Amino acid sequence: MNLQMDINSATKYKSNSQKARVITEQWVTENMFCPRCGNEQISHFENNRPVADFFCPNCDNQYELKSISGAHLAKVNDGAYSTMIDRIMSMNNPDFFFMSYLKPNWIVHNFFFVPKHFFTPSIISKRKPLSPNARRAGWTGCHILLEEIPQNGRISIIENGHVTPKKDIVKKVSIANALFVADINNRGWLFDVLLCVEKLKNEFTLEEMYSFDNELSKLHPSNNNIRPKIRQQLQILRDKGIVEFTSRGKYRKVV
Ligand SMILES: [Zn+2]
Repeated sequence: MNLQMDINSATKYKSNSQKARVITEQWVTENMFCPRCGNEQISHFENNRPVADFFCPNCDNQYELKSISGAHLAKVNDGAYSTMIDRIMSMNNPDFFFMSYLKPNWIVHNFFFVPKHFFTPSIISKRKPLSPNARRAGWTGCHILLEEIPQNGRISIIENGHVTPKKDIVKKVSIANALFVADINNRGWLFDVLLCVEKLKNEFTLEEMYSFDNELSKLHPSNNNIRPKIRQQLQILRDKGIVEFTSRGKYRKVV
């Protein structure tokens, strides 16, 4: 995998955003394999396709690329807030690649794969509506908050300039697949609780999980049974092989 992107591909473009799009998309086409099935390459869709940027010619899975300049990959801009939420609620969003690259040399610094089922409303934040004087007054965009996605759903292919071996990526993808839950509300709960688990040490207690009561109540204001819900989600995480029970009220992370 060559972390140096080819800037010659974009010499005919004037706008910086178009240049960045062409350069980053070309890099993906030339360097990226399909993390779902392991196919050696993925293909670029015709330009201006509304839904996704790439597809795998072997398994047909679709991918969208979001890239930003800079070392830190914490949040990225996306389109309209309401469209994004609709797509998540109807499971109509593709898998995502997120990239950060270093300028002026155009070196890929971080590159993550996030399977589509890790998208929940908790990771989408609403931006301020455009001002009444703007051409698209009232239009409201969104940010995708990458740090609100559990580690198990943020599969690093390149992390701070280091390339992850393909066999480790395949293993992480299979763990991420095990966390698939079809129903969006159940999925939201599972990943919100998983994110709390990830903030604790390798061995943790139910009491420590209850310290996230407030945080989880804010995310799920209509639910008055936060603690039973936490226990229920921990059981699901146990069934999926992510944590194990060691003794009454005590847990250990498995992966
Ligand atoms: Zn594939």
